Amino acid sequence: MNFRTEAHRLVDWIADYLESIESRRILPDVKPGDISRQLPAHAPEEGEPFERIFADFEQVILPGLVHWQHPNWFAYFASNNSPPSLLGEMLSSGLAVHAMSWVTSPAATELEQTTMEWMRRLLGVPEHLKGVIQDTASTATLSAVIAGRDAAWRRSGRDADIVFYASNEAHSSVLKAARLAGFRPDQLRSVPTDETLAMRADALANMMASDVAAGRVPAVVVVTVGSTSSAAIDPVRATGEIARRHGAFFHVDAAWAGSAAIVPEFRAAFDGLELADSVVMNPHKWLGVNFDCSLLFIRDLPAWLETFSLTPEYLKSAHDADVVNYRDWGIPLGRRFRALKLWFVLRSEGAESLRARIREHVRLGELFGSWVNGDAAFERMAPVSFALVCFRHRPAGMAEAALDDHNRRLLDRINASGKVHLIGTVLRGRFVIRMAIGQRNTAERNVREAWDVIQQCVRA
Ligand SMILES: *Cc1c(COP(=O)(O)O)cnc(C)c1O
Repeated sequence: MNFRTEAHRLVDWIADYLESIESRRILPDVKPGDISRQLPAHAPEEGEPFERIFADFEQVILPGLVHWQHPNWFAYFASNNSPPSLLGEMLSSGLAVHAMSWVTSPAATELEQTTMEWMRRLLGVPEHLKGVIQDTASTATLSAVIAGRDAAWRRSGRDADIVFYASNEAHSSVLKAARLAGFRPDQLRSVPTDETLAMRADALANMMASDVAAGRVPAVVVVTVGSTSSAAIDPVRATGEIARRHGAFFHVDAAWAGSAAIVPEFRAAFDGLELADSVVMNPHKWLGVNFDCSLLFIRDLPAWLETFSLTPEYLKSAHDADVVNYRDWGIPLGRRFRALKLWFVLRSEGAESLRARIREHVRLGELFGSWVNGDAAFERMAPVSFALVCFRHRPAGMAEAALDDHNRRLLDRINASGKVHLIGTVLRGRFVIRMAIGQRNTAERNVREAWDVIQQCVRA
């Protein structure tokens, strides 16, 4: 294949795609098996011309994709790309270097150290935490839970009955991390939440005290700033003080809302970060750095390395005593050169434009929340937090027991419109619809369109 010609064409295709994305149906109209049925059962024996491969991409694959970069994206959390990030990804895959050891590409490691320090300062993360880029928050949290488990084992011995604490609003990756780290069901505590769905520090303190009284060892506490269901904010300082008092490892999951910490007036939600043993946030959600790019900040690096560093002869180098080898900071050995796209975004956008976007999304969240509050047929189901609004439709006279089914059907209708995409969740046992604002190009007119679609679906 002629790489140069095809690559030029592909860049034009991507630019056209992104420019015209609003004209597309955001969700595909496909049933399970519709795509695979069109694909041959065997890989070809002979190579095929790229035009034919790309024609199949356009005819078979593209119609089965969800358009995540659509500005009417209000589902999950947005996963933004951006022009500088796309170029960084392209360059990174062109180079295809590994950032596993300093010696395998010194500039890749040193750029990662530099951009992580830039991000640490932008986010207001205390200086005693050192940063590393990971693929996802799930991996970062798993690493943190394993590091915390090991620290508890070192303190109390492998036979100790160690305990893990998180609220019932924590992301599924948190419970999965505890499971993968070997905590048994009886070693997991689900800390109750208050009326804002934030972890209750007093409940955490009580649970830990009774575990200690029973001879168990509090090992790991995971709190969330900006929960996935409702963007609830666990009290970092209060819970961090309790965790530290018991010597438990304290991990802060700020995967989505962490980006908002670059805006000074949203920093209050992160108060107490200096108590954290580790903090994770995802530039691949709100900051326009292509998936995957998750930042993990670590407090006690020597203890961390005791878990993750293992150096066979073939990975030794003359500089090991003087350099950072990021393979020792996490699970995988091979590491993509992700710092490049982060650097491109930070330099090309500048911090002020990233802050402006987040401020605007938060404003739009509050605006949408005010429309929900102002309409008697709707009910807001959690405080508007950052740029997330949880709500449900409540027609006059409809019994509580019928509301879940009613709102599930309403959400199906909203998504079937093909114009916007939202998802639902369950808060305190009730089904609610989530309006998560955060796509890079979302403007007020997109949020209005979503409200219009919702109103049309209610009337239908
Ligand atoms: C999105 C999210 C995660 C998972 O992020 P990945 O990078 O996809 O693993 C974890 N926690 C919270 C609070 C999130 O919003």
